[in-house]
Amino acid sequence: MNSLFNDTEIAFRSKSKKQLLRAYWLFRLMGFPELTKIGTYLIKTALKLPLGLKKVIKSTLYKQFCGGETLEECQKTISKLQHFDVYSIPDYVAEGQKGQKAFDESMLQILRTIKLAGEESAISFAVFKVTALGSIDLLIKTQQGAELSETEQKEWELLDQRVHRIFSTAVNARVRVMVDAEESWIQDVVDEWVMSAMYLYNTEQAWIFNTCQMYRRDMPIRLQQLAARARKLSFIAGVKLVRGAYMEKENERAVQLSYESPIWKTKKETDKAFDSAIGFCMSHDIALCLGTHNEDSVAFAMDFMEMNKIEKSSELICFAQLYGMSDHLTFNLAAQGYRVAKYLPFGPMELSLLYLFRRANENKSISGQSGRELELLKKELERRKSSE
Ligand SMILES: Cc1cc2nc3c(=O)[nH]c(=O)nc-3n(C[C@H](O)[C@H](O)[C@H](O)COP(=O)(O)OP(=O)(O)OC[C@H]3O[C@@H](n4cnc5c(N)ncnc54)[C@H](O)[C@@H]3O)c2cc1C
Repeated sequence: MNSLFNDTEIAFRSKSKKQLLRAYWLFRLMGFPELTKIGTYLIKTALKLPLGLKKVIKSTLYKQFCGGETLEECQKTISKLQHFDVYSIPDYVAEGQKGQKAFDESMLQILRTIKLAGEESAISFAVFKVTALGSIDLLIKTQQGAELSETEQKEWELLDQRVHRIFSTAVNARVRVMVDAEESWIQDVVDEWVMSAMYLYNTEQAWIFNTCQMYRRDMPIRLQQLAARARKLSFIAGVKLVRGAYMEKENERAVQLSYESPIWKTKKETDKAFDSAIGFCMSHDIALCLGTHNEDSVAFAMDFMEMNKIEKSSELICFAQLYGMSDHLTFNLAAQGYRVAKYLPFGPMELSLLYLFRRANENKSISGQSGRELELLKKELERRKSSE
């Protein structure tokens, strides 16, 4: 473990003792991956149960990992984070939605986050997922080059309009916007949208950011192609680097459909690709957001910045972690003068909880990380007890 981030007094200075205890028990429960599976089932049932139970969930799990049901409810958290020099990235939780009404509602919520980001310096980015705005089946068909029916063609036009409206609204409001990366069988379509928007809008600064999942074996080459294209066509590339959240799903589908998985075979290879990409982006004027909870990668980025005399507060580089996790990274980075933000999920409780459990189910690293979280929470609780 990296000792750079062991200062728990800084890490948890935004948290009361009650909040620390709540986090401690939640992470203990999350240490059992099977529980997240049962949790998904229970949450689905619980939503039909009396208000009392919802209240309990809202004051525990929901409060730990979400900003609120609405943007207004997030305000208190946004201000609190700002107080500790941590930016917020409000993330509307809807994804894999169904129906044009739900897609329109997601777009409106995203436009609202853009408006707020334009007014509040505490918000560093807006963010969205394309699957919140259109049907996943439509995206799959488009990526496969399949012929669309007349209805699908109309749905495609609506989706295209929603995506473009978000980009143009963000740029007009001078708000940077990141597009999340999803599964490889729809990602080419997403990449195409983002690439053309970067070319159109990122002329003076990077307003539009794509996400590169470094667990994909083809990503180092794609990143080189992006840098070359940006240089040739004179735009500034913006990239959020992540390892990737859909590894199990990607590998399973590859086995089912008998093709070679696009994911590196080992974690070590993903780690190497991730750190190399950090160096590559920083050396090629790519505006960068590092979405990671990995201490070694964060330390590598800090060292690289120091060795290459890149200012800690450079506008081109920021770090980001999910709200409720890895506070030891976020708050220690902020205290040292780096730009750092929390992804702050918000939305109706039902959607938020399903989103949280889906994330935990798909991404075992969230439950796997609970050991480190527990160690730090315990250390801070003991430190506070001894100084009482
Ligand atoms: C702010 C933020 C935004 C994010 N946005 C996105 C997004 O848009 N799209 C997205 O897909 N994910 C996103 N993620 C999730 C991210 O991709 C990772 O799943 C998660 O952060 C865990 O990776 P890590 O870098 O924190 O560190 P670690 O815990 O060190 O890494 C775990 C990751 O390593 C990889 N890995 C694990 N085992 C293996 C193996 N055997 N072989 C190959 N690779 C392996 C997987 O990607 C796994 O998730 C985001 C994360 C953050 C913090």
